[in-house]
Amino acid sequence: MNQHTTTLLVIGGGPGGYIAAIRAGQLGIPTTLVEAAELGGTCLNVGCIPSKALIHAAEEFDKASHYASGSALGISVQAPRIDIGQTVLWKDGIVGRLTGGVAALLKKSGVRVVKGWANIVDGKTVEVIRDGESPQRIGCEHLLLATGSHATELPFMPFGGMVISATEALSPKTVPGKLVVVGAGYIGLELGIAYAKLGAQVDVVEAQERILPAYDAELTRPVAHALKGLGVETHPGCSVLGLDPEGAAVRIRNAAGEESALAADQVLVAVGRRPNTRGFGLEKLRIDMDGHFIKVDDQCRTSMRDVWAIGDVTGEPMLAHRAMAQGEMVAEIISGKRRHFTPAAIAAVCFTDPEVVVVGATPQLARAQGVACVDAVFPFAANGRAMSLEAKDGFVRVVARSDNHLIVGWQAVGKAVSELSAAFAQSIEMGATLEDVAGTIHAHPTLGEAIQEAALRALGHALHI
Ligand code: FAD
Repeated sequence: MNQHTTTLLVIGGGPGGYIAAIRAGQLGIPTTLVEAAELGGTCLNVGCIPSKALIHAAEEFDKASHYASGSALGISVQAPRIDIGQTVLWKDGIVGRLTGGVAALLKKSGVRVVKGWANIVDGKTVEVIRDGESPQRIGCEHLLLATGSHATELPFMPFGGMVISATEALSPKTVPGKLVVVGAGYIGLELGIAYAKLGAQVDVVEAQERILPAYDAELTRPVAHALKGLGVETHPGCSVLGLDPEGAAVRIRNAAGEESALAADQVLVAVGRRPNTRGFGLEKLRIDMDGHFIKVDDQCRTSMRDVWAIGDVTGEPMLAHRAMAQGEMVAEIISGKRRHFTPAAIAAVCFTDPEVVVVGATPQLARAQGVACVDAVFPFAANGRAMSLEAKDGFVRVVARSDNHLIVGWQAVGKAVSELSAAFAQSIEMGATLEDVAGTIHAHPTLGEAIQEAALRALGHALHI
């Protein structure tokens, strides 16, 4: 059996694991990263990046289709066509460039990458299994678990055949005539909207009372309105019973107990994700768990000395930027730096149309936590840049403490508001007040002016409304 030893052994090459390994390498820590599939993990291969590429392609096609039926802008085109195979190739090209970039960065940082399935032997030893090769044993001082998560399967409607997860939805061979999306969280809606723009008739089934149930109703209203415009039928308060035995349809039951069938060529199940905690010997460590997740403290230490965990396997929010921030921190702590994972805010973005951003506390949350707060909304309908982009739907909302005007939250819905999320997070992280943001000169004409105007409005003197 081959054997080598290292200081840090990382299991999983997703955004959490690869960032931890790169930073550790930069800090001179001998590091080995084990990845069973492709570097980049869910995010680069079958998550964040390919989904945004497909969403962009769908948006462009939809735009062209609108121009084909005439537009107020005076632009007209012939009826557009899409070669979905070429779209997938283009998307794969982006993924390939990014995963290749990760491999190059790991190499530059001196990280040893081992391809194969990592099996934990004990807290200091991992065995890597690779088809056709004898297992390789790696000894380590520190073990970092960054094994990520997988799509949750419905036991009565398992993946296979016409029932697909986001992974298959990101590489369509054809655009289905009728797509039923189960789950109106961000993944289901992002992909459902993309497929509707690509020409599918889309139905979205959601067990809770409205789409994007994790977000407040005021924020999600413009998205619900846009879904109607796209012809997407939503079925809130409905549970899925399974595939119709008679043929291509999904049976659902509404809150009143009435059953019906939705015709489907494909069914995308997007009902959440489960942490990857099985099949690699984790149970041998007997570390403390937090439900399905690995329990960690604010330094991402597990209950076992020198065993660390980051990213989706450690809980919500299951987002790439959280995993990356945790990974960087763990490498720095191992190198001797004093760090804690106590972010003031982690932005959550839905790349729906319009987009939705939530950073920090909503007014409801702040009040529920006993914080007396002021909040104010500035609508994009009063923003010149939004008008020129035909993007008047939506708003920016700021939430601040009443006593000292410290900003505790931002929410926004509208075109391209994902790009405002950094400004939102920075203001909270840096302890900005309403006066700080209101007194910052924002470039004109930009969507970002809505940030300044929301702060001005909270202070009682918005200028453009
Ligand atoms: P992962 O990225 O899941 O990586 C874990 C890696 O570990 C995998 O490569 C896996 O092969 C490997 N692995 C697991 N077990 C072993 C083992 N025993 N041996 C060897 N290797 C192993 N997040 C955002 O922030 N923004 C978005 O816009 C966004 N969009 C998304 C869209 C979709 C469709 C999906 C599915 C997810 C999206 N996410 C998004 C979530 C994001 O992808 C995850 O939060 C992120 O990838 C988590 O990173 P991670 O490093 O914890 O795990």
